[in-house]
Amino acid sequence: MVDNTKSVLCGACRVALKGPANPDPQDVFSCPSCGRADSFDNVMASVKAFIVELTERRLEETMRKAARGSKVIKVTGKPVQKGNHPFIADVEL
Ligand SMILES: [Zn+2]
Repeated sequence: MVDNTKSVLCGACRVALKGPANPDPQDVFSCPSCGRADSFDNVMASVKAFIVELTERRLEETMRKAARGSKVIKVTGKPVQKGNHPFIADVEL
């Protein structure tokens, strides 16, 4: 899912990052718009955290919708917090 580097975006600008086609972990990717840059390793770590958060948020939304109007199911707990991810992925879950 995240091995297609075309889908990796700058978290601030939502612009596709520029980097090598077949990157090594230490290869630097950068945002052509704001210049934010990091190693491929760190970029991927950020993207993975973003996807995990996105998945959790979607799951929570689904549960809240399912529980709406139901006296049996009650969704408690805090909403998933929106993290601050320097790099994100262009994904639709
Ligand atoms: Zn940027």
